[in-house]
Amino acid sequence: MRNVIILGSGCAGNTAAIYTGRAGLNPLVVIGHEPGGQLSLTTEVENFPGFPEGINGPDLVANMQKQAERFGAEYVFGTVTEADLSKRPFRLNIDGEWQECQTLIIASGASARWLGLPNEQKLIGHGVSSCATCDGAFYRDRKIMVIGGGDTAMEEANFLTRFGREVTLVHRRDEFRASKIMLERARANPKIQFLLNTVVEDIYDVTQKTVTGVKLRDVKTNRVWDQEVDGFFLAIGHVPNTKPFVGQIDLDPDGYIVSKGGARTNIHGVFHAGDVQDRTYRQAITAAGAGCMAAIEAERLLGEGH
Ligand SMILES: Cc1cc2nc3c(=O)[nH]c(=O)nc-3n(C[C@H](O)[C@H](O)[C@H](O)COP(=O)(O)OP(=O)(O)OC[C@H]3O[C@@H](n4cnc5c(N)ncnc54)[C@H](O)[C@@H]3O)c2cc1C
Repeated sequence: MRNVIILGSGCAGNTAAIYTGRAGLNPLVVIGHEPGGQLSLTTEVENFPGFPEGINGPDLVANMQKQAERFGAEYVFGTVTEADLSKRPFRLNIDGEWQECQTLIIASGASARWLGLPNEQKLIGHGVSSCATCDGAFYRDRKIMVIGGGDTAMEEANFLTRFGREVTLVHRRDEFRASKIMLERARANPKIQFLLNTVVEDIYDVTQKTVTGVKLRDVKTNRVWDQEVDGFFLAIGHVPNTKPFVGQIDLDPDGYIVSKGGARTNIHGVFHAGDVQDRTYRQAITAAGAGCMAAIEAERLLGEGH
């Protein structure tokens, strides 16, 4: 029986582990399918406070884990596939083995949707990104491409015009999910060009380890052509990692955990932290802050003997 189990080894989970570790709760952190979380996918992180020269994403999360382990946090490889939150202690199935805990911190993040192109994964952090706020500043005066047709795509395209020489928005249809106001704002921006009825077939250039261009196809005419690009931003949505909790915890229609204030969920003793609940900010620092909040709430609940 654990005092606290933390799901996820990203910024939120690691920060929760530092705090609950220092509180003497001997947390167990379940690493999940993506050790270190989304920051492990990136290279340079320039906006995490405390690193004036920036820091490599994987190094940042590895440091957090080291810091948590110093205070007694235990990390296990594995993924939670099933959970029973109907009563305390809560029960979690970690790759076939059931573990019990008094409190649970869900910091399982939200995975970006990718196109699934062969070279895409190889170029993440080398020109391919799913986060304009995070990586836009690396493309000052460069050619940027944004993929998507919803509000996020419009917002990211507009935001990226602050940096890029030009921004091309590629959408596979000629109709948009984006709201009228967001679409009009993007259309009115002279730096944004629209490429509609168009899909990306490939991203270049893995041999150079950086994005240099894309292969595009017009879905109506089947014309195929190459276009030079320096920064390639996906804005086709995120999938919150909440599958094991469907039907047990309050989730919104897209699967994000519904907050009941602070880090609380609708279940007493189960807390949320980071991108698994936050569809607005999605930053390392906000996830870390949320991990701290969840840890303090778990600590107080256990301290009060509830
Ligand atoms: C390419 C890229 C670049 C980025 N750059 C920056 C940047 O420069 N600055 C910045 O502030 N932010 C950046 N971000 C955003 C930042 O990475 C996220 O906001 C942050 O990682 C969210 O942290 P998290 O802990 O909530 O979730 P995540 O980092 O997504 O971690 C989730 C964790 O949960 C685990 N998990 C999932 N399901 C389960 C399960 N069923 N059982 C057990 N474990 C599970 C995963 O293995 C993972 O370890 C970037 C994101 C991307 C994708």
